[in-house]
Amino acid sequence: MNQFVSISEELLAASVILIVDDDPVNSAVVDSLLSGLYQTVVTHSGESALDFCQKTLPDLILLDVVMGGISGLETCRKLKQNVETQHIPVVFITSILDVEGEINCWDAGCVDFVTKPVNGVTLLNRIKSHLVSKLQADMLRRMSYKDGLTGLNNRHVLDEVLEKSMLYATRSDHPLSVMMLDVDWFKLYNDYYGHLQGDDCLRQIADSIKEVVQRPTDVAIRFGGEEFLCVLPETDLAGVEHLAQALLKSVLDLKIPHAKSPLNIVTVSVGIFTFKPKSTLSQRRYLSRQIKPYTRPSNLAGINIILSPMSCNELRLVCAPIVEYAIKPIGAR
Ligand SMILES: [Mg+2]
Repeated sequence: MNQFVSISEELLAASVILIVDDDPVNSAVVDSLLSGLYQTVVTHSGESALDFCQKTLPDLILLDVVMGGISGLETCRKLKQNVETQHIPVVFITSILDVEGEINCWDAGCVDFVTKPVNGVTLLNRIKSHLVSKLQADMLRRMSYKDGLTGLNNRHVLDEVLEKSMLYATRSDHPLSVMMLDVDWFKLYNDYYGHLQGDDCLRQIADSIKEVVQRPTDVAIRFGGEEFLCVLPETDLAGVEHLAQALLKSVLDLKIPHAKSPLNIVTVSVGIFTFKPKSTLSQRRYLSRQIKPYTRPSNLAGINIILSPMSCNELRLVCAPIVEYAIKPIGAR
């Protein structure tokens, strides 16, 4: 897989391997080979294996092919049909050596199989190889949507999050709000204090966001350099305004010195937008009413304030699909 993603021995040793075999002697032999190296769990039927996977996702499954109840092949097919479990590598342990038996194993979605009686060295090597690949894939998946500096999501998740949130808002008839933060005078901060301190400043602001935006359904994203975006399901205009105020205060409370800002400390400005799926007003008029009170007065300095999409270009860009969705009646699509 990827030679640049290294998997530590500790991570490997923490891997959970589910051993499924209806013969207790076979499962005990395999368990004794593996339990000193990995975290092992033994079950004796396909049903109990599927039950286990509903509660805990193992990193690898060793699966007997012939079992009473649902077979290993059927168990594997069910695991591969479920989005939660389809990434778990399944290695069959089988005494069936003919060509058809092998093809059946591949067709069910396994990554490999070993034959009974089990050769311990082969089993250990195969398992280690598949586990490393699995853990690397997990890590790459996490890296692809996490921002390395702040630990927030990165903008790759935005399209999916917005689409899901809009669908949910429409179905449930709950408002959806979006909030965008921009660090005021951040270029000057970076120029004056240097990029390392700039990164530290962004990390502290990201921590403030994590503190304020806490519900499990809320999604906080590092949108770009010093821009952050929060997607807030089931949040109305009053709710998002409250959160925006809390964020302004939370960043002020950090008291990060900023010699090049008129306030002498680091501040953020927040753009907010609320989409309400069904309104008694025409949706276009509704949206314009939502936006109006938050249009930034032109005589205000652009720091430490709450802005509307009308005065915040990036937010307007992000909200464009939502606005379009809101303005066109759903039946007209
Ligand atoms: Mg069996």
